[in-house]
Amino acid sequence: MNGKLPSVPADTPQCQLKVMNAGFCRAKKSHILKGADKEEVWLPALFYLIEHPKYGKLLFDTGYSTRFFDVTTKFPFSIMQKLTPVRISTEENAGNQLKRLGIAPEEISIVLLSHLHVDHVGGVDGFPESTFYVNKQEWDYCRQSEWKLFRNGYIKKLFEQVAASALTLLDFEKNGLPYGPFPKTIDLFNDGSIILVPLPGHAVGQYGLMLNITKEERYFLVADSVYVKENYRKERAGSRLSRIAHHDPRRYRQQFSILRQVEEANPGLHLIPSHDPEAYIEFVKTKGISGGSGEARIDRREKN
Ligand SMILES: [Zn+2]
Repeated sequence: MNGKLPSVPADTPQCQLKVMNAGFCRAKKSHILKGADKEEVWLPALFYLIEHPKYGKLLFDTGYSTRFFDVTTKFPFSIMQKLTPVRISTEENAGNQLKRLGIAPEEISIVLLSHLHVDHVGGVDGFPESTFYVNKQEWDYCRQSEWKLFRNGYIKKLFEQVAASALTLLDFEKNGLPYGPFPKTIDLFNDGSIILVPLPGHAVGQYGLMLNITKEERYFLVADSVYVKENYRKERAGSRLSRIAHHDPRRYRQQFSILRQVEEANPGLHLIPSHDPEAYIEFVKTKGISGGSGEARIDRREKN
């Protein structure tokens, strides 16, 4: 397989990306990478603010939110708190972080959700006027009972807001077009800037987001297709126990070689997994301009 992506035309609209984080969950290193030591780490829950010169501000995912504690007080939902201890304060909820940056919820026209797991939909209630984009496959899947869904990492109450809001269902099967090695992708604005890429295995209908800025600078937000880059770079998954987190562990593993080849074949492409502690340090902490919970502005002007 050739992982080469199409080049980025010079007239591609110049989006800006800001990597942010809402909450952390505690896990052992050996859980996310088989063979690693048993040291405990706090995994981030990254979300992304993208500003498109024509279509304005949009989000990719919303991280955890303090609603996690409200919906996991009672059994069986309390199991999730035990399995994945979470740390987040109200100031860290996505909507509140954006407000502190001077961005009102109404300014976020679109919220793209890679998938509907608790650590991606936590902040959706902060955006009652946004249009949510969900893979049709996953939306259909989520019609089942909240108990069945819970066993697969979903808490239905957390995405009630999505059902109550404007919703756009993405039909990759019907409308998807090839983009490099990916057979069915959707060019969100038909201008080459944002390409939505199905990344099956972890959850039904999970998709990632390719952000093309220039030919030297592009990002691939790969959501939960891996925990950390070492998963695909070394072709090594998480622990045996971690497999229960994935809808289809075999397909999950198959993504590793695709991601590795895409990374190798496209210098200048940054792959960012949502829960990678190193990505948090690189994009949220180190490049952060606002301290505290720290958000990074990846502004091309800073580099010149
Ligand atoms: Zn997930």
